[in-house]
Amino acid sequence: MTTDATHHDDKSNSPIRPKPGGAYEMALQQLDRAAKLLNLAPGIHEVLKYPKRELSVHFPVKMDDGRIQVFSGYRVHHNLNRGPAKGGLRYHPKVDLDEVRALAMWMTWKCAVVNIPFGGAKGGVVCDPHMMSLAELERMTRRYATEISILIGPEKDIPAPDVNTNAQVMAWIMDTFSMHSGYSVPAVVTGKPISVGGSAGREEATGRGVSIIAGQIVKKMGMQLSGAKVAVQGFGNVGYTTAKALAEQGCIIVAASNSKGGIYCPEGLPIQKLQTQKAKIKDNRLEAFCDGAIITNHELLTLECDILIPAALEEAITADIAKDVKAKIIVEGANGPTTPAADEILRQKGVTVVPDILANAGGVTVSYFEWVQGLQEFFWSEQHVNRQLEDILVNSFNQVWEKAKEFKCDLRTAAYLIAVQRVAEATDRRGIYP
Ligand code: NAD
Repeated sequence: MTTDATHHDDKSNSPIRPKPGGAYEMALQQLDRAAKLLNLAPGIHEVLKYPKRELSVHFPVKMDDGRIQVFSGYRVHHNLNRGPAKGGLRYHPKVDLDEVRALAMWMTWKCAVVNIPFGGAKGGVVCDPHMMSLAELERMTRRYATEISILIGPEKDIPAPDVNTNAQVMAWIMDTFSMHSGYSVPAVVTGKPISVGGSAGREEATGRGVSIIAGQIVKKMGMQLSGAKVAVQGFGNVGYTTAKALAEQGCIIVAASNSKGGIYCPEGLPIQKLQTQKAKIKDNRLEAFCDGAIITNHELLTLECDILIPAALEEAITADIAKDVKAKIIVEGANGPTTPAADEILRQKGVTVVPDILANAGGVTVSYFEWVQGLQEFFWSEQHVNRQLEDILVNSFNQVWEKAKEFKCDLRTAAYLIAVQRVAEATDRRGIYP
């Protein structure tokens, strides 16, 4: 498998046809690789390939200028044999069912690799939130929450933030669900503001987790974070919080980018300044905020550096880019940033890739803590949250590292071996109903 055009073997009796070259096809290829190594029973493998259920909704929203606009949204549950459905909500013009299916499957593996009792889910609305007013976003969110309310609930399906959604969006969803229930239901979403039952440390959890995992991998490779040169693609929740946490540990953040392009500064970027000032300028170009060379996202991904953190969208590192990657280590902050063809090239080049399902699992881990706190109405200190997060991530990292040694394989394969095994076992023990 060396080109990005290699497609999943699509049997004619498959209930779902993956989009050629799309994210779900990628997710299936990753699953197939693990299933083969695990010698997974064909029936169980078949079950794991497909989402359990998918909801598509098309709903009207009154826009500020009086127009009625119809939006499309999705909520997909992949495998719920280990617990209720958990996964983020994405607002983006390129959201489609194929992408949401892949993201839901990756959530199943992520929850399993860190051994928290959730199944995988994901949702999204096709929209460009940067072109909408706050009032329009609120009306769209509340109507979408109502449309998917047949699926969500504290024991059923608990959404969280993802690309272009945040604590405010979660508060609107929590409030909408609570209004329909007649009482407050804080545990229906995670990533809420602390004022309505959110957890200390949740907003930073994904980036903090990426930095904890980066610390573990550099140690194993005989390097150290202090002085390590880091390039970060995507400067949103995950990219910024990762860059901040790594800079605090002595890393030099030599480059960062967003959808408009990037900036390179070999002495290190002023991360805090970039973050505090970026909201002030409308077109959000990072180069407007500090001195440094303007670079493209392609240039950022192939920069000379120690650690590369893709923290934007899927399929950022393609086979073409992988050939030119110069980083020693890639720690995947985003979900699905490396195509299987690129993965193969990176394996051959000896680049160490710490996979998304482990590297960015800090977010869902603290979401789990938030859910537990919401159900118990008993809240933890930030220190306690961070300590528990570190325990889970370091333990999971060590399990993946040991599995990689045992199977003489890369870390993605090792993480999949652990995750798929856990989900397969739960699926098998529960049995096929009826
Ligand atoms: P976000 O909306 O806060 O930020 C996304 C960033 O990526 C923005 O800076 C945006 O400009 C940039 N971006 C978008 N398209 C780009 C492109 N083509 N090239 C370069 N940059 C681009 O989203 P986020 O929550 O930080 O999510 C980023 C990634 O991390 C996604 O893959 C998401 O699924 C994953 N993730 C998020 C969380 C979480 O807790 N938020 C948890 C785990 C994984």
